[in-house]
Amino acid sequence: MSEDREIAGTLQHVSFEGLALERFEGVIPPEAWQRVLEGIARAGTVLAGRTVWNVNSTAHGGGVAEMLHSLLGYARGAGVDARWATIAGEPRFFKITKRLHNRLHGSLGDGGPLGAAEREAYEQPLRRCADELRELVRSEDLVILHDPQTAGLIPLLRDTGAPIAWRSHVGYDHPSELALQAWRFLLPYTQQADVCIFSRPDYAWGGLQADRLAIIHPSIDVFSVKNQELGSDAVHAILAGAGIVEDRANELPSFTRENGEPGQVERRAVLVEESRLQLDTPVVLQVSRWDRLKDPSGVLDGFARHVLEDSGAHLVLAGPAAAAVADDPEGPEVLAEVERAWEQLDAQPRARVHLANIPMDDLQENAAIINALQRHATVVCQKSLAEGFGLTVAEAMWKSRPVVASSVGGIQDQIEDGVSGLLVGDPLDLATFGGAVSALLGDSANAGRIGAKARQRARERFLGPDHLLKYLALLQQLLQRSATASPSVKGAARGSVSATSSFGI
Ligand code: UDP
Repeated sequence: MSEDREIAGTLQHVSFEGLALERFEGVIPPEAWQRVLEGIARAGTVLAGRTVWNVNSTAHGGGVAEMLHSLLGYARGAGVDARWATIAGEPRFFKITKRLHNRLHGSLGDGGPLGAAEREAYEQPLRRCADELRELVRSEDLVILHDPQTAGLIPLLRDTGAPIAWRSHVGYDHPSELALQAWRFLLPYTQQADVCIFSRPDYAWGGLQADRLAIIHPSIDVFSVKNQELGSDAVHAILAGAGIVEDRANELPSFTRENGEPGQVERRAVLVEESRLQLDTPVVLQVSRWDRLKDPSGVLDGFARHVLEDSGAHLVLAGPAAAAVADDPEGPEVLAEVERAWEQLDAQPRARVHLANIPMDDLQENAAIINALQRHATVVCQKSLAEGFGLTVAEAMWKSRPVVASSVGGIQDQIEDGVSGLLVGDPLDLATFGGAVSALLGDSANAGRIGAKARQRARERFLGPDHLLKYLALLQQLLQRSATASPSVKGAARGSVSATSSFGI
């Protein structure tokens, strides 16, 4: 995967390989595989000669980039001409989109305004991106715009004649006034989409036509470097190679790259710690961007105060080397906060906490390290304050890890409390969080049962083929609707396309 250039207000085209869906044949049940084959055959006919343009704000770091890489790879592998472009970074623009992101999750963020000046700063680079896109998008194509960063492109691309979907990967269960401010900022754009796609029905907060809503939850790619099988020796070698555990591995830190070629972990994580983690130490892990909504400081505090030293466990908080994620300007600041919180811990808990910045220079190397960390962990946690879906939860569940997670957003759709993981009702309740982690550390039989159920649930619900089928079915419905809309409606503002039911997928 690569990006061509980085000029503010321009598009960068992301190159990616087509992936062979056939490898799922033995992984999903035979009847599900049959449905996949039929769905792809149908899509092949309807989408022939059309390009499906996907636009988001970054090709690496975070769940959307992770998901697009696989989803679009499999779409292309199935014969769909899927393309991916990102809008290039401009600090002022990303400051506003981060403000929107935080508020959509009910969090104040930097507390700045969302008025006319911000609207202009938001729209200006998008106008330049839209000029480029209009050169590329034909009326027979389809456009899928991802997240608040790209919503402003919707009206600007109407005159291409191509149907436009807006897919929101963010969301919050009970929108506060703060969240609704961001929602209202976006409505003038999102109301003009032919369909708005959310991960959960609860995330569509009003102002959008009911017949233009669709629900599709994300998926993980079990064959990606992030999720591919690794034996325990390979896990140890990768963790040693990345400098996360003591260096006494017997083999090379190897993994298989997306193209099937052998890869090796060559770079080391930057660690904030008192001493190197021992291989036989039980590990509690949280993987996430350095984002306050993931509450890394709360995890650290909850672990230090409520997961007792006699558990022998250490905490690893792992995230991307912070400066690396262009559309996430708060990352370095949040990392600095967590480092300060670590420094202020008493000596004993401090010795049990490791902050790991995982190198982002080679995304597949990064994914191999995260994969190894997740497989090595005794307990995985995701103590988010809000979460659109939470891919890290599905990733850990696929690896049979017992997960302790906040009962927020899409996490509630993944974990059945007490069966395939443990949910913590109030994400700020550190004692309950620490208690749940301790319970799993202290009862390996139960942790193993929960881990096995977690894998089963991930297999049934969160694997790629089902996601791809829903995505292709939605595109076909979008084309059908567009074809049945009267010519006058198809022209200017397809704001008034009428249909009697919402997208049934
Ligand atoms: N991730 C990663 N490297 C890191 C930190 C996170 O690859 O150093 C990945 C993580 O494995 C997951 C994605 O980023 O696939 C995060 O997605 P999630 O839905 O959990 O949260 P988001 O970042 O989208 O809010």
